This record gives sequence, C-alpha cells and structure tokens, in this order.
Amino acid sequence: MSTVTDYFGSQVFDDRVMRSMLSSEVYASLRKTIDEGTELDISVANAVAEAMKNWAVEKGATHFTHWFQPLTGITAEKHDGFIAPAPDGSVIMEFSGKELIKGEPDASSFPSGGLRATFEARGYTAWDPTSYAFIKGRTLCIPTAFCSYGGHALDKKTPLLRSMEVLNKQALRILRLFGNNTAKRVVSSVGPEQEYFLITKEMYEQRPDLRFTGRTLFGAMPPKGQELDDHYFGVIKPGVAAFMEELNDELWKLGILAKTEHNEVAPAQHELAPIYTTTNIATDHNQLTMEIMQKVAARHGLVCLLHEKPFAGVNGSGKHNNWSIATDEGQNLLSPGDTPYENAQFLLFLCTVIKAVDDYQDLLRIAVATAGNDHRLGANEAPPAVISIFLGDELNAVLEAIKTDSPYQGTKKTQMKLGVDVLPKFNRDTTDRNRTSPFAFTGNKFEFRMLGSSNSIACTNIMLNSAVAESLRIYADRLENAEDFETELHEMIRKTIKDHQRIIFNGNGYDDAWITEATEKRGLLNYRTTADCMPHLMDEKNVTMLTSLGVFTVDELRSRRDIMLENYCKSVLIEANTMINMVHKRIAPAITRFTADLAKEASGKKALFPDLACSYETELVRKLSVLTDCIAEKTDELEEAVLGLQGTEDIVEESALIRDTVLPRMSELRIPCDRAELLTAKSYWPFPTYGDILFSVK
Ligand code: ADP
Ligand code: MG
Repeated sequence: MSTVTDYFGSQVFDDRVMRSMLSSEVYASLRKTIDEGTELDISVANAVAEAMKNWAVEKGATHFTHWFQPLTGITAEKHDGFIAPAPDGSVIMEFSGKELIKGEPDASSFPSGGLRATFEARGYTAWDPTSYAFIKGRTLCIPTAFCSYGGHALDKKTPLLRSMEVLNKQALRILRLFGNNTAKRVVSSVGPEQEYFLITKEMYEQRPDLRFTGRTLFGAMPPKGQELDDHYFGVIKPGVAAFMEELNDELWKLGILAKTEHNEVAPAQHELAPIYTTTNIATDHNQLTMEIMQKVAARHGLVCLLHEKPFAGVNGSGKHNNWSIATDEGQNLLSPGDTPYENAQFLLFLCTVIKAVDDYQDLLRIAVATAGNDHRLGANEAPPAVISIFLGDELNAVLEAIKTDSPYQGTKKTQMKLGVDVLPKFNRDTTDRNRTSPFAFTGNKFEFRMLGSSNSIACTNIMLNSAVAESLRIYADRLENAEDFETELHEMIRKTIKDHQRIIFNGNGYDDAWITEATEKRGLLNYRTTADCMPHLMDEKNVTMLTSLGVFTVDELRSRRDIMLENYCKSVLIEANTMINMVHKRIAPAITRFTADLAKEASGKKALFPDLACSYETELVRKLSVLTDCIAEKTDELEEAVLGLQGTEDIVEESALIRDTVLPRMSELRIPCDRAELLTAKSYWPFPTYGDILFSVK
C-alpha cells in the first residue's frame, strides 16, 4: 500500500512537477510570475500549457476547465476536451497558452448584480498562477478569476487577490520603517476550521425541507440531544471513520493539508481543519473541501450538510478563520518577538488589527451574512452578532500599561517604553481559552469565529485584509513623516489603545449583559440579521475605504449588496414555500388521519362500553384538533406574508419585509407543528424525526 507521502499532491501541478517538466528558463519565468506578479510572456504560457496538458493526459485527464468562484458562493466549471482532429482521422491532444491564460465562458446565468448587461453574455476568466492547477475526476482544473468584459469583478477571487496586494503594499511600508529592507512580500495566511453534519441519505431523502433548503423547517427535539456532551471529541463511529478516511485521501491527493478531524458538540456533527496556507490558496482549498465532502459522503450512502443551522435546538455549524500575516522570509508579524524592536513592531501590527476591527465591524459582520448564519449568531452557540476582540489577560495588561504610561504588572514590574524595553513573554497557552469571542488573539494569529459553515472564506478575508491595509496605510503615512520615529510610534500605539479599547472584551460573549454593555455603553454595532447589516456595505466610510484602496469599485460593491440581499430573500422564500407545502401535503393530512382514527376508535369503544370515558383518545383528539386549527391559521398568515411581498421593488425594502413578516411567521407556524409531532403516533408521522436523523449514522 502506498503511503501518504507518495500520493500527497499527486493530482496537483505543483512546484515539484513544474520544476521537473519545464525548462529552467520557463520555470524561472513562471516562478517570477507566481512570486512577484510579473506578466507572463505568451511563449512561456505555451510551454507551461504544453507541460500541463502532457502531465494531465498522462494521469488520465481528457478535459480542462477554467475553475472559478462566481458570486453564487460555490465554484463553477465548464469542461472543454483536449482533443483536436488530426488529418488521418485520429485525434491529438491540444492545449495552448492562450487557452491556459484566458477563457470566455458564457456567463449570462451567473449573478452579476447589474454589472453585466444581459446582452453582454460573455465574461472572461483569467488564470491565477498563484494557485496550482489540479486534476479533479478526468478534468484539469485551472484556478481563475472571473470578470465582465467591462473589467468588473464577477467573482470572489479577484477582490481577494486585490486585497492581498494592498495588504502587501502597506505592510511593506511599515517593515521598511522598522529597518527591514530584505522582505519582498507580506502575505496573509488562513487556516479555516470547517464544521459539518453527516446523516444517512435514507433520512435525507425523506425530508423535503432538507432537500429543498438544506435545513429542517420542522422537528421536535428528541429525548436526547447534546445535553450530555458525550459526542464532542468522542469515539468516531465506523461509518464516519470510513468517510473521513476517504475524504482525507481525496484531499491529500489534491495537495490539501487536511490535518485534524473530530466529533463536534452536536450529535452527527464533525470538524475538519487543514494546516494554514496563503489566503487565496486556502480559499480555493476550502471550496474544494466542501465540494469533496459532499461527493465522498454520497459514496458512503451519507449526506454532508453544510448549512449553518440544519437542526433547531442543536448547535449549528460554523467555520473559524485563523488569520495571520507573515513576510516571505517567514516572520509572522502577529508573533511577539524577542527584541524590543521586534516587540514594538508586533504591537504596531496588533494595533492595526484592533483599529481595523473597530473601524470596520460592519464589514466583518457583512462578510459572514447569510440567511443561514443569522440563525447561529447570538444564539448562545456561536459568537453574538456584536464584534469584539479577545486579547487575553496578559496582552491586555501590557496594552493597559502602555495606555496609562504605568509599569506593566507582570511577574516583574516593567516600564513599557516601546522600542526600548523588552516585552514580557506571554504564556501562549492561556490565550486560547475564550471560545465565546468573535475575534480572538490566539498567540500568533487571530481567530475570527463568526463565519457560517457554508460561507466562502473569501468575503471575510477580503474585508479583513482591506481593513488592516487601511490602518497600516494611515500608520505608515504618519510614521514616514514623523520627526522622531519612536516618539510618534509610542504616541500612535497609545492613542489606538485609547480610541479603540471599546472593541476589546475578554469576558463571556454569550452573556446577555455583554450585549447590553456593548451596544448601550460602548456603542458597538449589533446587526442581528442579513437584512440589518447588508445595506451598510454602501455606507460612505466603507465605500471610501474599499474603493480608495482599489479592492472594489462602487458598482462592484453595489452589485454584491444586491446579490447578497437577493440570496437572502430567495433562501427565506424557498423555506416559507417549502413549509407551506409540507403542511398542506404532509403534516396536516397526517394529523387529520391520526385524529380521525382516534375518534373512530373512541366512538367504537363507547358503543361497546357506554360507561367508558375514553379520556385518553378524546383528550388527544381535542388537543390535536386545537393544534390543527392553529396550524391552519398560522399557515394562512405565512401565506399572507409571502403574498405581501408582491409589489416591493427595492431589494433592501423586500429583505426588511422578509425579516419582519415572513421569518417570524415561519417560527410561529413551526411551534404547533412540532407540538403535534410529539402527540402523533410514529406510524402516522410523515417524516423521520430529529432522533431518527441525528442518530442515523452507525
Ligand atoms: P484550535 O483552534 O482547535 O486550538 P489550532 O489553533 O492549532 O487549533 O489551529 C487551528 C487552525 O489555525 C489550523 O488550521 C492551523 O493550521 C491554523 N493556524 C495555526 N497557526 C496559524 C497562523 N500563524 N496563521 C494562520 N493560521 C494558523
Ligand atoms: Mg480554533
């Protein structure tokens, strides 16, 4: 049996393959494009395309595709064969540099939010040489960016690459000020921890709500849920272990560094985390991971649910975005150093993140906003919708000492003159324990915990990179013009701590008292829903920051706001219609049948034994009849709410109506249905219950 080291990355046209298959001139030229972003000569592109094709064909590939990430949130591909006819009737396999560099997919059916007129059907895809090509099935996939002919970004990769570029540029300015003249690039890295549920296909198929919406819209709690905490890190069941084994193999072949896997808090819930890598590669890999999880699950008779809240009353699924920035020389800029100078630099980068997160809380909230994720945030299972930063006691004490110009009360008293005094060593292990914080410093990286499990991590990292680049830009402007570097630095850091200390919170983020304090005393934002936050994407400060850095144009921003709100409205409407349908076609008829049978039974008994009360049956008939009436009324109200949306033309207005009328009525309708489920005999109930589904995988 071959070992992991033999097949790791075997489906990837990575550096090893490039080095072995390309001439040294072509390799050097491609490497320069990858490392420094220089333009690629067409003759080089032809040579790379030829090598890529030969490599792929050798591995059984017959097609190639430009693989991209449109604004649907998933990936898209259109396959083209390598074959070309030869004069003698046979075929040859062809692939040119032009085909590698640029594609022209018919893009008219992808959301563009008005960026591309429908008559202008074509967009184009452009090769991203910084993310390696790979083989999936029998197709060579080439990671690409996707734009309209007018040059507008129609995807998530383009702005992500732009945000990495601006972060690089501004961070280098700072490093130069600290005397670092050797680093060539600063890159942000991400390790996303991915949560998901696994259930059997058999259960899934029987639930229209899961099939149409990805989550259950009805379902009473089973007698046993996650109360005992016996699933978290528990023994992995054989069916799940077999799935994980195959998933790892598939991911490893694609060069994805899947590292840890374990059971999560909820029954049937699991997590996978890869080793961190460059942000755009991590993004591509996370998209691939989600896709492959679903494919591998299907081969095992399972379904992988990536929805943020598949089951009410059971923890939902999120994604933790572990983020750091480092130089090409391997220096992590969020890691405290050993010398006073390194420490001052660390504190400066730390402060840029603090400032960025406070100034652009709304953008971070917007980056994770979907109808699905709205169910988790603030529901005591994920961070609240209020953003705050956790630093840990020690780092907090250091900042406090700087702010007040007082000695740091660590193990020994230290005066905190930046650039002169050595920072005390922080004990890293103690920094990672606050699980309730949306944005936690964990020793040498920040962990942003608000993402939903199905979110593309691109959005979060675009906003994070951009906001931090903006803080760095402001700091660099000041420091470059400072009379005395150290005094200016010290003052700037002090002022940042003073101005932005409201965003720092080391307590329990799930506590109601915190939400009150955050919003009422500290003035932090609390956008509970997608409908609340998304319109703020177009707030002047956000538009100014993102356009002046060149990460988005105004039109691109507006299109994203519209698409995200449209997605929100469409998802909720599909859910509402699915509920109405399930009630009329399945739930109400089932309860009625059960009630009728009970009534018949009771009257039959009474005919035989007139002195019997038959109170069990009659009481149940009465209760279920009351519930049926209530269900009918609540269904009518939901139908009315859906009809009430007709005529709204503005997407912001429609999303607000959905939030205020449709969603609350969905919750109201669910209550009598779930109650009825508990009172109805199992043989009559038309769907598998939560208990059946959550404990279905053996
Ligand atoms: P946990 O959060 O479960 O304690 P870790 O902190 O070890 O686990 O790692 C979680 C994720 O953070 C992993 O994907 C890991 O590769 C990633 N990670 C570790 N160091 C960094 C870093 N410097 N930058 C970005 N991600 C990192
Ligand atoms: Mg973590």
